[in-house]
Amino acid sequence: MKTLNALVLLIFSIWGWSVACAEPTTYLRYQQGSEVAYGILEGDTIHQLKGELFENPVKTGRTVKLDEVKILTPVEPSKVIAVGLNYKSHLGETSPAQYPGLFTKFPTSLIADGENIVIPSDSTNIHYEGEMVVVIGKKAKDIAPEEVQNHIFGITIGNDVSERAWQRDDLQWFRAKASDTFGPIGPYIVSGLDYSDLLLETKVNGEIRQSSSTELLIFDVPTIVSYVSRYVTLLPGDVIYTGTPGVTRAFKEGDVIEVSLEGVGVLSNRAVKE
Ligand code: MG
Repeated sequence: MKTLNALVLLIFSIWGWSVACAEPTTYLRYQQGSEVAYGILEGDTIHQLKGELFENPVKTGRTVKLDEVKILTPVEPSKVIAVGLNYKSHLGETSPAQYPGLFTKFPTSLIADGENIVIPSDSTNIHYEGEMVVVIGKKAKDIAPEEVQNHIFGITIGNDVSERAWQRDDLQWFRAKASDTFGPIGPYIVSGLDYSDLLLETKVNGEIRQSSSTELLIFDVPTIVSYVSRYVTLLPGDVIYTGTPGVTRAFKEGDVIEVSLEGVGVLSNRAVKE
């Protein structure tokens, strides 16, 4: 019996150690020829996966180099939710809210890393907003903040492109926030990463325009996801843009906007005119 107890203890110790030491995993969705697949990225090698991303997919054994594929948006969500005014540095004169200020972007606004942001011909004041984005991995309805971690698959990077004149003048924000190409996202989803204090930066044509840490979110991820789930059933693949820090400025045709998030990568998109 003693031997059995010791053996059980040993197995649990090894399991606990391996969980504690687990490296973050980097996922991507990509296209090679006509084939679309998910993969795990290790160095510059993609290990192709079989099965649904959120249901423990397995490696097929096939590999391909990163530069041989086209990177796609990492998810195809049913919903794209965003939090406004979630960094003190972005508030200006506005007082912090009592609860997260939510709005939505359409799934059709999402574009992948490397795709062009198309500035509508009647746009006059279009801004970048570099953000950390949460990816839901498990259905969530009315969950407590303490449960949120079990429902998150990982994090990615987003640029919450915003047309400020429309945001100011329209009755609702869907044109300002959810026009086609206004949702750059990706290139990767990283799971198993502690995202409570990551460097978040935005560069325009190589020049740093936003630099902050996810530590400075007013409403943290557990609070946001729990709050959203009170009203909306979150499904695997749904994404939540968590807000942008600092001051944003307009960009123009030809500008390259790069949003980087420590431990995740760089999301890069060029702006073109319609
Ligand atoms: Mg935003």
